[in-house]
Amino acid sequence: MSSLLDLLLPPVCALCRRAGPLLCAACLGGLPLIVAPLCATCGMPTAVEVPDCRECRGRRLGFARARAAVAYRGAGRELVHALKEGGLRALAVQAASVVALAVPRPEADALSWVPAVRWRELRRGYHPPELLGRALAARWGLPAAPLLATAPFRRSQRGLDPAARRANVRGAFRARPCGRMRVVLVDDVHTTGATLTACARALRSAGAGRVEAVTLARAVRP
Ligand SMILES: [Zn+2]
Ligand SMILES: [Zn+2]
Repeated sequence: MSSLLDLLLPPVCALCRRAGPLLCAACLGGLPLIVAPLCATCGMPTAVEVPDCRECRGRRLGFARARAAVAYRGAGRELVHALKEGGLRALAVQAASVVALAVPRPEADALSWVPAVRWRELRRGYHPPELLGRALAARWGLPAAPLLATAPFRRSQRGLDPAARRANVRGAFRARPCGRMRVVLVDDVHTTGATLTACARALRSAGAGRVEAVTLARAVRP
């Protein structure tokens, strides 16, 4: 449906609404790309390259490391919202290009994504992390594998503080058996890392040898 609308409506930039490509050169150039130096573990931008940082030190993260393409602010935040709320499937392909530009392809056997909270997916009719994941899998030449599902009765993370988020997502995901596969786990935004950790733990419990999280955007310290 939305891809049909994409064809019928005059093409405009998803961010600035000017006529032209779905993501115009000016908006693309204005994205707050995340660049080194980074925390080697969680991908937070840091003053110098560090093995871990204030955010992730001492935390039991489920993933071996996390990387993101853009900071979750300004045009980076707008891009995520356009992808989430805009119903623009083609934008996921553009977003995947941005990720491939900023994040080196991980050494992996398969790519999966954070699954939808069922009621929200039903309401929206499409799931941006899956669209982004599939586009990125194609780009990176990795098999796209829907390895994860949500357990029933998971409530929304919206409005919860970090501790409540971690409690809410604990045990919220189930994974299919993954052998000893190295899995790239994709989501749209890395905020506290609670959802990524819960998904990565489910994958590890299902046998995955290594999980690397890759997101379009990441919350960064101001
Ligand atoms: Zn634009
Ligand atoms: Zn860190």
